[in-house]
Amino acid sequence: MYAFTLERPATVADAAKLAAAGGKLLAGGQTLLASMKLRLSAPEQLVDLGAIKELVGIRKEGNAFVIGAMTRHLDVGANAEIKAAYPALAWLADHIGDRQVRAMGTIGGSLANNDPAACYPSAVLGSGATVITSKREIAADDFFQGLFTTALEEDELITAVRFPIPKRAAYEKLRQKASNFPLVGVFVTQGDSGVRVAVTGAGNGVFRHKGLEEALAKSFTPEAAAGVKIDSSDLNSDLHASAAYRANLINVLTQRAVKKALG
Ligand SMILES: Cc1cc2nc3c(=O)[nH]c(=O)nc-3n(C[C@H](O)[C@H](O)[C@H](O)COP(=O)(O)OP(=O)(O)OC[C@H]3O[C@@H](n4cnc5c(N)ncnc54)[C@H](O)[C@@H]3O)c2cc1C
Repeated sequence: MYAFTLERPATVADAAKLAAAGGKLLAGGQTLLASMKLRLSAPEQLVDLGAIKELVGIRKEGNAFVIGAMTRHLDVGANAEIKAAYPALAWLADHIGDRQVRAMGTIGGSLANNDPAACYPSAVLGSGATVITSKREIAADDFFQGLFTTALEEDELITAVRFPIPKRAAYEKLRQKASNFPLVGVFVTQGDSGVRVAVTGAGNGVFRHKGLEEALAKSFTPEAAAGVKIDSSDLNSDLHASAAYRANLINVLTQRAVKKALG
């Protein structure tokens, strides 16, 4: 590591001011500190969000859960209300990385980072959730903009995420054994606004699969998903899996997710 200064503001407004002046926001540090150790990132000032109480917590608002940006994965996974009303979301949080990562990692850090294989972006996009920031509210469909890129501005903090509770939902993933990140993950919901299928790990960022959504809107069954051909031309190929393998996984994991959602 090299020298940097550390600020620990107590309010969102103060954190935003520090970010506007060039400070780098620090949440759980699971990605940022590792990238600093590898010298892939070299901020001169870190702005630790850990003292901002308003960023932590889970509350139910009508038919939605609002989860503060600094809420740890472990706390979402263990929350009794989410487990009862939106078990797919609790399961996803409870199966991110390992216990240490879940004890430190936060939903805000995960979404701001937008790793193309992260789990939470698929839940946010698959739920049609809303990302609440220090400046505005951003629909999930507008938030994720490709590889490690989001709609966030330099001085904009995620403060919370609002998840509408669907009628049915499930998340299925195949872990990449070395990193624990999903090789491919699929989050499926069926709710008032129809069916949403969000895929992570397969492309340059999380995306919705229109073909699967249309088939499942007609018939919410594993068989309907099985009949959809997944085009592999825009999918990733790397040493872990070819694009064709990932395409097949999208189909298989969607079938499993629908089966799980149907109970
Ligand atoms: C070994 C390992 C395994 C993992 N496995 C998985 C997995 O299976 N699935 C998965 O989804 N994730 C996985 N992760 C990622 C992890 O869960 C965290 O979500 C991720 O590291 C980022 O969250 P963080 O709170 O640590 O953010 P940090 O590392 O502190 O920050 C990440 C980025 O987000 C920015 N940021 C943080 N908070 C905010 C905010 N409120 N507003 C705006 N910008 C902000 C920071 O400036 C930084 O650029 C894994 C991580 C590790 C180290």
